[in-house]
Amino acid sequence: MTCEIISIGTELLLGQIVDTNAAFLSRQLAAIGVQVFWRTTVGDNRERIVAALQSALARADVVITIGGLGPTEDDLTREAIAEVLGEPLEYDPELGEHLKRLFAARGREATPAQLRQAYRPPSATPIPNPHGTAPGLRIVRDNHWLFALPGPPNEFEPMVREQVIPTLMSLTQGEVIRSRVLCLCGIGEADAEAQVQDLVRSANPTLAPLAKLGEVHLRITARAASIDEAEQMIAQMERTIRERLGAYIYGTDDTTLEQVVVNLLREHGQSLATAESCTGGLLSHRITEVPGSSDVFIGGIVAYSNAVKQRELGVPQEVLTEYGAVSEPTARAMAEGVRARLGSHWGIGITGIAGPSGGTPEKPVGLVYIGLSDPTGTLVTRHLLLGDRQAVKWRASQVALTLLWRGILKGGCASLSQS
Ligand code: AMP
Ligand code: MG
Repeated sequence: MTCEIISIGTELLLGQIVDTNAAFLSRQLAAIGVQVFWRTTVGDNRERIVAALQSALARADVVITIGGLGPTEDDLTREAIAEVLGEPLEYDPELGEHLKRLFAARGREATPAQLRQAYRPPSATPIPNPHGTAPGLRIVRDNHWLFALPGPPNEFEPMVREQVIPTLMSLTQGEVIRSRVLCLCGIGEADAEAQVQDLVRSANPTLAPLAKLGEVHLRITARAASIDEAEQMIAQMERTIRERLGAYIYGTDDTTLEQVVVNLLREHGQSLATAESCTGGLLSHRITEVPGSSDVFIGGIVAYSNAVKQRELGVPQEVLTEYGAVSEPTARAMAEGVRARLGSHWGIGITGIAGPSGGTPEKPVGLVYIGLSDPTGTLVTRHLLLGDRQAVKWRASQVALTLLWRGILKGGCASLSQS
């Protein structure tokens, strides 16, 4: 079964509001196996709404419109649907009485504009709207279904969940779509995709790579007659992907890298302290976003100035003068210093140039050194990170977490340096 969504409203075209309703609806439809091939946004213009409805009805089994059902002059969905159906708009006394009661209950009278919401094409069935005034409409015509739903999200979402989805489920004979996201770090999108090119071409399950800031997601989606069958199809593709890219997969679905790291530290009974320069505390912020991180995170020092690097972390004056604050020896001294001073198992030191200014030909914007230290040794890696200030900071924290994740899995810096 295919469905097409038409979002109606000039404010959507102007970018004044974001089409959260269509995104919500798409997710709900995917979950019950209804395929959405087209989504259209059209302004409050009767002619163009009619044209959008005609194209949609010609190619989809189900058409769902969003918005334009309100009482104001620019709400034209009802009129456009009547035109497409070749029917007049007729006053529905039952809807009219309902509206009048709603307003009377608030000590007001329904205006003629409000009562426009009581009009419908005769072949349309009203869908009750317990959260607002405009009812939805449901029409069946030549084996095609048309739903017209109100725009306000607090009216739209319950109507989708409670009315539209149950109706469609009874028509789809239980086809389901399930998906799982594999989250990868330490590898770029192109390299990850190159490893799974054959799978990206598969029709069912499908595999879609998604580049995120500092990580890559691979989304597997299966369509099947039952949840069990879909899960099995996903599991099979996941196994194949893990055989090729397992070393980069840190988690699935909504798992974050910081969650994985905190859990691993707890399992190993290890603690962490951070020394951050260019990330300004972002790494410790991310770690402390994880509930229960106090079990493993001792603390961090934001060592922005050289003075603080020296005084609080013990970075030697000579290192700073000879190599500079953004250098391999400084990152090393920061990681070792914070570990020694805070008494943690792991120490991380981050120093770099986030930009936009401060770069030189030898040390460009995006140059970041990350030091990782534990009782087996210290490892420092050099990175040239892309993007603006925010992106460089985020990527630097991501690289640090990736390094730590690998370090814990490998059993220490000494084994990590050899791999
Ligand atoms: P309408 O029924 O088109 O007059 O829409 C009423 C209100 O619902 C608008 O002012 C928006 O605040 C909201 N709205 C309409 N369409 C959408 C949409 N597609 N996504 C999110 N909110 C919407
Ligand atoms: Mg509108």
